[in-house]
Formats: sequence, C-alpha cells, structure tokens
Amino acid sequence: MSYCSTRGGVASVDFADAVRMGLATDGGLLVPEALPSVTPQTLGEWRRLRFQDLALEVMAPFVGDALPRADLVELIDRSYATFAHPEVTPVVEVGDTSILELFHGPTAAFKDVALQFLGNLFEYLLARDGGQLNIVGATSGDTGSAAIAGVRGKDRIQIFILHPQGRISPIQERQMTTVLDANVHNVALRGTFDDGQRLVKALFNDLSFKERYQLGAVNSINWARILAQMVYYFYAWGRVADRLRGRPVTFAVPTGNFGDIFAGYLAKRMGLPIERLILATNRNDILTRFVASGAYATGEVYATLSPAMDIQIASNFERYLYYLVGEDPQRVRALLDEMGRTGRLRVTGEEHAQVQRDFTAVAVDDAATLAQIRETYETTGYILDPHTAVGVRAGAGQADLVCLATAHPAKFNEAVREAIGCAAPAPASLRGLMDKPTRCVVLDADIAAVRDYIGEALAARP
Ligand SMILES: *Cc1c(COP(=O)(O)O)cnc(C)c1O
Repeated sequence: MSYCSTRGGVASVDFADAVRMGLATDGGLLVPEALPSVTPQTLGEWRRLRFQDLALEVMAPFVGDALPRADLVELIDRSYATFAHPEVTPVVEVGDTSILELFHGPTAAFKDVALQFLGNLFEYLLARDGGQLNIVGATSGDTGSAAIAGVRGKDRIQIFILHPQGRISPIQERQMTTVLDANVHNVALRGTFDDGQRLVKALFNDLSFKERYQLGAVNSINWARILAQMVYYFYAWGRVADRLRGRPVTFAVPTGNFGDIFAGYLAKRMGLPIERLILATNRNDILTRFVASGAYATGEVYATLSPAMDIQIASNFERYLYYLVGEDPQRVRALLDEMGRTGRLRVTGEEHAQVQRDFTAVAVDDAATLAQIRETYETTGYILDPHTAVGVRAGAGQADLVCLATAHPAKFNEAVREAIGCAAPAPASLRGLMDKPTRCVVLDADIAAVRDYIGEALAARP
C-alpha cells in the first residue's frame, strides 16, 4: 500500500515512511493511494474474530509489505495487552443504546487505542531502521498522558510534554507526572495551554533545532492513529450485527479533531454497512456549522465540560476534504488557500449535499450534557463521562445506534458529581495516583528556557 499527501506534494511512500513522516513534507496529511474494499462475505467472517485478530485483518492491507505479518501480529498483541478488558473495546447494552467502551486502556481514554499501538510501532521502526525520536508536545490534559503511556520506557524515544501548571485536573496531572521512566520529561509551564502550543510551534519552526534534535510530534495527524481507530468500528458492528438482522448500523461519535469520526468514515467507504455517522460536538461547533452551511470558519474557543473536544481547528478535517472533492489535491490546496486568506472556506452546493449525506451533525451544550448524564444514570444506573454524554445526546432517537464512549467517567468526576451528586468509581489505572511519587520541572513560558531544558536533557543521554 502506498500513501500520498492530500496536497499532492508527496506520493508513493510506504506505510513505514508514512508513519515516520507524520505530517506530510508538503504540509498536507498522508492518505492511502487507494482504499481496500471489504466484501459482505469477508465482513461475515470478521464478525467472529476477537479484537486482536480483527485488528490484524483490518490493518494488514494498509501496512502492505512494510512489515512482516508476524511482526504486525506481535505489535498488535503487545499494544492491546495493556487494556484492562479482555475484549479490549467491549460493547455494552445501556437501555436501548449500545455503548462501545473505548476507555479500558492505561489512561482511561480512547486515545490509548491508537497511541499504545503507535508507541510500539515507533519503537519497532527505530530499532529496525535506526535513528532516534524526540517527541515534543503541549497538552491540555488527555493527549499528553496517552502519549506518555504509549512511549514510556521505550528505546530510542524521549518525550517532552508541556502542560499549563495548575490548569489541568489533578488526575490528569498525576497521570503524567507519576510516570518516572527516564525517557519521560514532564514540564509544567508558568502559563496557559496556548503558551504551551505557541512554544511547541516555535520549536518546530526553529529548523536547525528541529533537525539537530530530531523532533517529532504525536498529534492526531499520524496515519497510524487513524488506522488503529478504524478497527473498533468493524469490531462494534460485529458485536451488534445479530440484533441488526441485516440493517446498517449508526454510530454517534463525540468529535474534536475529527480523527475518530474520520476513521468511521473510512470504514464506511471500505464497505462497512453504516447508515449514519453522527458527528457530535459540544459548544465548540465549527464542524456542526460546516455540515449545516457548507462553510468552515474558525471561531472563538469556549471552555466546556468536555474539554478534549474544545478545539478551534479540526486537524484531520483536511483528510475528509480530500475525499469530498474527489481526491483532487489541487482543489484541496485551493480551499486551504481560501481558508488561509479569509479565515473560512466554502464547498460547492453539490459537495455540501454530499457532506449532509455523510454526516448528521449535532452540537450539545453543557446543560444538555449534564441532563444526559443524569437521565442515563436514573434510567439505567450507567454513568457516562461528559464527552460520551455529548454523543449519546446527539444520537437520541436514532435506531440501531452505537455510541462511542471516549473516556471513563471517573476521569471527569467533577462534571459527573454536578450531574448526579456522586462520583464514578475509579478503574484500577486511576487509583492511588495522588499517593505516588512524581517528577516534573517547572519552567517559565519562555522559548529559551524550554529550548535549553530540552537541549540539556538530550545532551545528558548516553
Ligand atoms: C480526544 C478526545 C475526543 C475527540 O476525539 P477526536 O479524534 O479529536 O475527534 C473525544 N473524547 C475524549 C475523551 C478525547 O480524549
């Protein structure tokens, strides 16, 4: 399988190179040059597979010759052995809704599904092909801890995660700072999340620093993350297929960067019988407005009860645009130019009609999020986290629905308590965090301070 850039400046790179590249060198995102399709007969066979074996079948055509099959088997097995549930991503029945629980990984949020795999894959490629990777990222909470959990203790990888001091939840902070592996470097910035993002951007723009220290990112644009996320759409369908009796399934997906729901969109393009993909956002509704109007325009970012979805620009949106305009890189570039010049882009009437066939978009505010947590708890006893509650609310009334549960409720107990007056019990991965030893340095939100710290930490490596 070969990959190309959505902007046309990169073509014919294999899976390993696509993973190493992350962002395409022309500034675009990497996509497969052709999607494999899955026949109804194959789908029927996949229904009986356990998660790891299904992951192998879904991933193998995308990996192609870049890795021997036996090595891919081993990577998959190791990546999902860290999950606390034997089914990895089980589907549970809650009232008349099916919930796909994606939060049984080490940090209790769905990003583990992709980042456990990506961490092992990076380690494998570096061991095989040589080199070294120094990951630098800023986090407002969830991504940092999942990235750290994905690469802790791995050879040839160092990770630096910047978080705003005192501005993330105590659990999220401890999930990062209690990781004491020598290759993990937590930095608490005297500043905001935006300061962290600005500093990381500045480091990546400092090309001599970037090359000297082989900086890499783990944000949601890496193709391997999308690939790992496609698996659970097939898996969930297999779990509910008997009940569907041949009818297609509908998924409700809490969405921020568009990565998770884009994986579902690709599964549908490959032949998975999906009736609707419900794109659920919180008050930060740039994507909902796009589906409603055909215009994509940035706005202000609001803080909500579902903070992992508080985004202004959905980093995977460009991949969807590419398919929407018929895999035409020139047209993608024209739309992005328009966005760069004017702060907005607008697709044609025909394309807009296609968008509305692809997605049903619903924005859910904090009051409705709390109401949903309360209602589900009162009628079924099941506790939703606020991100999942946004999806469940958005999917209300749909038949044959599977809602993606993206975080364990105990990770967001402040909102849970506000909704139902009590907290969700913590899973083993979140217990005892407040009593463990921590390591973290505190730095000013200043480029020189951060650059010096990273340089010194890397120079001290053997
Ligand atoms: C990251 C995240 C999301 C949003 O996923 P995207 O791929 O960015 O759309 C939703 N819920 C939780 C808990 C997350 O951590």
